[in-house]
Order: sequence, then C-alpha cells, then structure tokens
Amino acid sequence: METFTKPFTRQEPIPEEAIAAAVEVMRGGALHRYGADPSHVAALEAEFAAQTGAAHALAVASGGYAMGCALRALGVQPGDGVLTNAFTLAPVPGAIAAVGARPVLVEVTEDLVLDLEDLAVKVDRADVLMLSHMRGHIVDMPALMEICDAAGVVVVEDCAHTMGAAWAGHPSGRWGAIGCYSCQTYKHVNSGEGGLIVTDDPDLAAKMTLLSGSYMLYARNGTAPEEAVFARHKGLMPNVSGRMDELRAAILRPQLRDLQTQAERWNTRYRALEHAFREAAGLTVIERPQAEAFVGSSIQLLAQDPGRLGAFVDGCAARGVEWKWFGAERAQGFTSAHHHWEYVPAHDLPRTDGILARLIDLRVPLTFDLEDCAQIGRIVVSEAERAFA
Ligand SMILES: *Cc1c(COP(=O)(O)O)cnc(C)c1O
Repeated sequence: METFTKPFTRQEPIPEEAIAAAVEVMRGGALHRYGADPSHVAALEAEFAAQTGAAHALAVASGGYAMGCALRALGVQPGDGVLTNAFTLAPVPGAIAAVGARPVLVEVTEDLVLDLEDLAVKVDRADVLMLSHMRGHIVDMPALMEICDAAGVVVVEDCAHTMGAAWAGHPSGRWGAIGCYSCQTYKHVNSGEGGLIVTDDPDLAAKMTLLSGSYMLYARNGTAPEEAVFARHKGLMPNVSGRMDELRAAILRPQLRDLQTQAERWNTRYRALEHAFREAAGLTVIERPQAEAFVGSSIQLLAQDPGRLGAFVDGCAARGVEWKWFGAERAQGFTSAHHHWEYVPAHDLPRTDGILARLIDLRVPLTFDLEDCAQIGRIVVSEAERAFA
C-alpha cells in the first residue's frame, strides 16, 4: 500500500527578490510605515488598488483586523446584528464579536456558498453582511447584491480564500462596499501575518486609515483620499492600531506581482486532484460555476454517507493524506463549525449542519507537484473503496 509522505502545511520559500527587499529594509532600520520614505506599505497600497481596480487600498496587520476595521468604519454598534455565513472560519464571527456586534448566521448550500433563500429571509435583521468566500467558493454575486441592495444591506467581502479570484470577470472583493484580504501564511500571499482592504468610497477609506492608527500622517497612505475627506472624520475615529509594517510590505510586493501565475499553479493541482477524486466511491466533488474564476488552494468533497466518513478520514490519515472533517465534534487544526463559537447565540441551522457532517477539506500546497496529486488521488480512491463501497 502506498503512503504519501509530504507535509500538507509546507510553504514555498519567499521569493529571493522579496528577501533582498526585506534585508534592505532591515539594514535601514525604518520598519514603521510612517517612518519610511519611500514606503513599501504605501507602494503596496497603490499597487494592490491598481491590481483590483479599487480607488483606495489600506494595508493592515491581519485579515481579521481588516474585517473589524471595515465594520467599525461602517458604524456597526455594540449589540447590532451582522449577517454572515454559517460555514466560515473563526476570524469571521470573531471580527464581528470584536466590535461588540452579534453574528446572524445564514445557511450555506451544498456548493458551500451562502444560501440566498435563507439570506432573503434574514436580510432585514442587520444592516451589514460580512460575506465569507469560504474555501474560495463564490456565490452568484449579482443575485446576492440584488437582495442586499434592495434591503439596504451593505456588503463586506471576506476574501481570505479568494485573493486573485473573480466572478464574471469582476474581482472578488470588488462587489461589496469593502473587500478584506489576508496575507497570513496559509493564504495566497505570505507575510506571516497581514491584511489588505479595498474600497471605492473615499469616506470609508479615510475612516479606515484613521482607525488603523495613522496619527497626522494619513496623507502618506498610497491611495489617500483628499484632505477634505479626512477632515470630516479626523477627530471622530479612535486609533485602533493595526498598521502593516515595512518588512511585510517589502516581501508582499513581489508576491502580489506573481499572484496570477501562482493561481494558475494552484489550479493545475486542483484540477488534477478533482479529476482523480471523481473516481472515488461515495464522494462527490463540488462543481465550480462557469462564472467563477477561483484559486484552487484547497479542495472539498461531500460524502453521500457521513456514517462512514470517520473511517475514510482515518484510513487516509494512516496513509499520509490529511483531510479535515468539518463535521467532527471539536474544532481541530484550522477547522471550525458554528457550534464551536460558544459566544455566538446558538442558531438552528439544519441545512448547514447536514452539509458540514458530510464535508471534508484538503489543503493544496504549491509544494506538491502533479505526481504528488496523482498519488493522493490513488490513495483517496482506494480508501474510498474500502470505506464506502
Ligand atoms: C484566515 C482567514 C481570515 C482572516 O485571517 P487572519 O488570520 O486574521 O489574517 C478570514 N476569513 C477566513 C475564512 C480565513 O480563513
């Protein structure tokens, strides 16, 4: 019996060009974004705004910070409801709770996207939707925006898994009022920790820049709105420090230039795995819509019979293939399910619970080659045969 031996959590090295830029920053000692001139952070903001077609970008300390900053800038108050996906990861309800607000969880579908029927039922319970493109699955964005626009609900997009992705040619993060991205090690660019925010709205951009802790140096943001816009918000925004530093921006700039190439490399691996998994008994791949240009940095399968899923996951694990099972009792590793968030008022979400019980998830590291994907495919097919056939 063959066993897979590569780790599922290994990253590629940081590009040499990025390392050289980081070393230069350290030699100069100017690691604070507002002390550096010229600033890598400001340049990163200008470059990311251009890349996504946004008027404004802001680099911050993490993806979670980006989401919290967006909610604060939108004026979400303690006690307010904020709509979000019932299937997402802990930083999303965490960012809502961090501003004292209350997650209102919306069911997801078997395609792992927000259930628009449940959204239509719940849309009046909040003024903001924190839409999580969980595991890179993008919902029908025009349909979602129509529901939210009609109800006056502002959309913030959590693009932690969709940096470089698009729906109908329009980038993920550019449909709602604000797009939030993570540059944390396990996402599509790697600065250890880090986040990016985009918006077209100058008032939101100014508020978020002030919130992130810009003192009187806010004009040095790489895409700063005019002084008159800042003047409207200056004294009103508390400093909730969460800036990005020069070192992180220095190593992110070359990575962002490579994003499309990396996305294609991810998708080559994703397609190889998907092709192999179609032969696995008892397991179904999630079909990707035509309009969705995704980045296949992870892959999910649904089991027809959740009763045998534990045996399948254990069988694969014994042969070096590490599935995460979202239906497991307790959160393990980076998985999480809504009933693990005990600070969130309990929700009745039968549809989501039924899906999570059948859902498994595999990371697709770029350190795997196509032969690795083929081997994983063979192991999964043979273990599925044992567990489900
Ligand atoms: C990683 C992640 C975030 C936020 O990431 P940080 O670790 O705070 O940078 C947000 N949403 C999802 C779905 C994530 O996986």
